[in-house]
Amino acid sequence: PDSVPRQRGVRLPPDTSRETFDEAIAALQQELGKDNVVVNDKPLIDGWYLEHPNTHDAFHLVDQEDLVASAVAYPGSTRETQAIVRWANKYGIPLWPISMGRNLGYGGSAPRVPGSVVVDLGMRMNKILSIDAENASCVVEPGVSYFQLYEEIQKRKLPLWIDCPDLGGGSVLGNAIDRGVGYTPMGDHFANHCGMEIVLPTGELLRTGMGALPGKDGKDNPTWQSFQAAYGPYVDGIFSQSNFGIVTQMGMWLMRETGHQSYMFTFPRDEDFPAIVEAMRPLAQNRILGNIPQLRHIVQELNVTGLPKSHWYDKSGPIPRDVIREHSKQLPIGECSWVFYGTQYGDEASINTQLQLIKATFSSIAGTRFYLPKDLPDDHYIHSRAKVCSGVPVLRELDWLNWKPNAAHLFFSPITPTKGVDAQVVHDLNVKLHEKYNFDLFPTLCVAGREMHYITNIIFDRSSNDEKKRANALMRELIASAAAEGYGEYRTHLLYADQVAGTYNWGNGALLKFNETIKDALDPNGIMAPGRNGIWPKKYRGKGWEI
Ligand code: ADP
Repeated sequence: PDSVPRQRGVRLPPDTSRETFDEAIAALQQELGKDNVVVNDKPLIDGWYLEHPNTHDAFHLVDQEDLVASAVAYPGSTRETQAIVRWANKYGIPLWPISMGRNLGYGGSAPRVPGSVVVDLGMRMNKILSIDAENASCVVEPGVSYFQLYEEIQKRKLPLWIDCPDLGGGSVLGNAIDRGVGYTPMGDHFANHCGMEIVLPTGELLRTGMGALPGKDGKDNPTWQSFQAAYGPYVDGIFSQSNFGIVTQMGMWLMRETGHQSYMFTFPRDEDFPAIVEAMRPLAQNRILGNIPQLRHIVQELNVTGLPKSHWYDKSGPIPRDVIREHSKQLPIGECSWVFYGTQYGDEASINTQLQLIKATFSSIAGTRFYLPKDLPDDHYIHSRAKVCSGVPVLRELDWLNWKPNAAHLFFSPITPTKGVDAQVVHDLNVKLHEKYNFDLFPTLCVAGREMHYITNIIFDRSSNDEKKRANALMRELIASAAAEGYGEYRTHLLYADQVAGTYNWGNGALLKFNETIKDALDPNGIMAPGRNGIWPKKYRGKGWEI
């Protein structure tokens, strides 16, 4: 059910009495206005992608009421964000900043510490502060979605592209600081950001990069969105996937509009996997592959039709490989095991030369076939892929959620070298453990020249405690066994942050100690997103919060 009556009352922040909480909320309402601080005492509604909750994780893997906010605050400006942070220090109440909260599969809007106050920046801080067409860059607030930025560029008729992830409803800024990826040549979002404004955990304000140098007459620095590192240590990185501050503005580089051609290769056998990886590597390293292409298992061709699993297979376990193959024969692309979605950029002649090289390379794998969008029916997924790969936000990937009733999903996202041997180890682990825990395996690899993000989407029924338990156990074992082989995740759901951070433990946990040192220096009262990415402030450390 979507909305059930609350079993428990308001989840108070840790070590905070109801009286103190009420007093604190009244004080914050005084500062921001009554409507901009809302206590989370209503029934929890999971909603759906476009109407997602900011009170809890819509894709709850534990009890829906476990990871909940005590209240949500809506700042309207950087100044108000600073006021919230100072307030949190005064009352010792933990904050959980989100941009838009569409971080589905990684925890959504849910705070790691139940009873935190979610700072929903996206609701009121949603301005595109500037678009510099000559510099091909923009400055956005946290609430600017890919759709909003895209539409503004269209409205102004600028020859620019944005780079969006699979779903276009998320925050441009939020995705970049969580180090998400997209699919044009500028798909590494964090690598293409330029300059940030950050509210530090004490309430002080910081501008990074060239923004640290004041512009003339109080203006923003004219090179803030032109040069990333500026002078001295390059600090931007520590504000990604961390809890060292609230980012209130970010510069992003945009891509110049160009010609583009999406295409698809299919490969016949499951066992072709390492050979495909070996073929992709030189193409990527030579930058012949134009973007961040995706290699997907054929099972996803069934999934992206938007038809439920029951259409393909009416038993309860995972679809067996031979059934998948049987169905693939009926698909427009015909029987195969792996599909590769790529896009080339430039003028027509250049695209044709690039495609010849790519075809020549992939032809080393017997039975490879090549398709252009025009070869496939209008409702084929390739047309949605072609949009994403040319900077047009889409929502097609939501069709995943038709797979089973009450579908929710969870990502397992290890990084492997772009080498057949390594990729095979991670793939075999996935096959084995998905079988063990009775889940369909949906591998998607986002390919670069030296590494691949091997992403599996674990789809579970959130009304079934049994499925949640199994998904949890699968995830825990995937993380542990990948780490035992030397592979780690680039990002993970809230619930596994401690476990994943714990796998990066070279040199007696030197990295986590380093992060904790920074954390304690910047956030002495431990109010900023405690536990995010496994980093706990002193106040919480070693007191049973780590899971
Ligand atoms: P999306 O970009 O998909 O809408 P979120 O807004 O949830 O996703 O951002 C992803 C994660 O990054 C959040 O869960 C939060 O931990 C962190 N985050 C998002 N925005 C900010 C911000 N402006 N400052 C600090 N941390 C943020």
